[in-house]
Amino acid sequence: MLELDKLTIHKAHELLSKKEITSEELTKALLKRIEEMDGKIKAYVTLNSEEALERSSEIDKKGDFTEDLSGIPVAVKDNICTKDLRTTCASKMLENFVPPYDATVIKKLKEKNALILGKTNLDEFDMGSSTESSYFFTSKNPWNLERVPGGSSSAAAVAADLAIYSLDSDTGGAVRQSAAYCGVVGLKPTYGRVSRFGLAGNAGSMDTIGPITKDVKDCAIVLNAISGMDLFDPSSSDTIVPDYLESLKTNLQNVKIGIPKEFLGDAVNKDIKNAILNAAKTFEDMGFICEETSLPNVEYALWVHYVIASAEASSEMCQYDGVRFGHRAQHYENLKDLYKKSRGEGFGLEVKKRTILGTYLLDLEGNDKYLVKAYKLRTLIKQDFEKAFEKYDFLITPTTPTVAFKIGEAKDSLNVNDMCTVPVNLAGLPAISIPCGFAEGLPIGLQIIGKAFDEAGILQVAYAFERNTDYHKKLIAWKEA
Ligand code: GLN
Repeated sequence: MLELDKLTIHKAHELLSKKEITSEELTKALLKRIEEMDGKIKAYVTLNSEEALERSSEIDKKGDFTEDLSGIPVAVKDNICTKDLRTTCASKMLENFVPPYDATVIKKLKEKNALILGKTNLDEFDMGSSTESSYFFTSKNPWNLERVPGGSSSAAAVAADLAIYSLDSDTGGAVRQSAAYCGVVGLKPTYGRVSRFGLAGNAGSMDTIGPITKDVKDCAIVLNAISGMDLFDPSSSDTIVPDYLESLKTNLQNVKIGIPKEFLGDAVNKDIKNAILNAAKTFEDMGFICEETSLPNVEYALWVHYVIASAEASSEMCQYDGVRFGHRAQHYENLKDLYKKSRGEGFGLEVKKRTILGTYLLDLEGNDKYLVKAYKLRTLIKQDFEKAFEKYDFLITPTTPTVAFKIGEAKDSLNVNDMCTVPVNLAGLPAISIPCGFAEGLPIGLQIIGKAFDEAGILQVAYAFERNTDYHKKLIAWKEA
């Protein structure tokens, strides 16, 4: 029997176009699956069932399925604004916030007749790597319910067939890390490739929006829909957007891949190291050249990321003051007290920690001592990548040094699990995570990093890997249980 919730975008599109299924059937199948399973996984903060069903029947009536995403439901991370649909950033501060407008990416998806199924969990304001700092609840990894899904529960939703695909955000690795932990595909585009308008800021110079999907082809389809210059986002780029789906047809030749040795050191689990070396072997069998290389300054990346992220977060968090919007304390004595109590009650511990640290970093002393140094090191890290890309077309690394960790295991915010992903955000480069093996019964992610704006190249390499291996086809054992 055809299980609609398990479909990829491209398969669903094919069946919808041939009128073998309807969008309403597809939406109902997903809602049923959510009803059965989301009690365990806890991927969704808010469901949009009624509207999704209404929209699906409207789309069926029109019967126009020319667009790849037409009539196909999507899960959206709850820090991306959706008009008339609650957007909480997993914070008490925005528990009841209903945006009056759509983020540009949402507008673009709606223009393609996509349907929003619901909003998914994250760490409060996207600060963390596990959803444990969410005000609402901790989401679970579908492969093992005692493990974290990463900072984006939408990856868990896609892996457990609670969504066909998702739109998510990545400041230091959330898209890629969650995709790796949950055994799906996640792409972080070049900074500027996809508009950030309507994304609640965490660290503005590193925030990006990207897709999480069941396979590489789907990733190309979603990237086609959301990429491009946007006048509402001054940091968005007018670099030409190629047809990513079409570009998958390219036959890759003379590809040179670098493997930075810093990501295969002692901090990386042995099975993961082996999986990456096996992936390199697969590429070599395909005729690519793989060589060890070095990015000498990435050892500072975690520190640099958390310094810059905290400074930027503290300035982003200023807007939540209990006056303009967000949580407002009920009892207060004067304006200062209102700010203090509203922010004190509305923010959780991680946000408070970063805001306090960030405020210090933006002040004269912290600025001189730490922030200026962090920006200098960021430049050195960027230059390391530039140098490596003079010689190589792509770099491969593990996405994470371990498989998904246990809930409660991450002790502080300088999370070593971010070591392979944060350098990419610091350098503003594109990278994808695709499944490349298993350890402890949990999936391992391979990260492929490309030159700025070479998402097409990354997708081509990832697609070639996917076709030469079968990791992505292994179904979640939990599903059948
Ligand atoms: N773990 C990183 C942080 O807490 C990045 C999180 C993200 O990508 N949203 O800053």
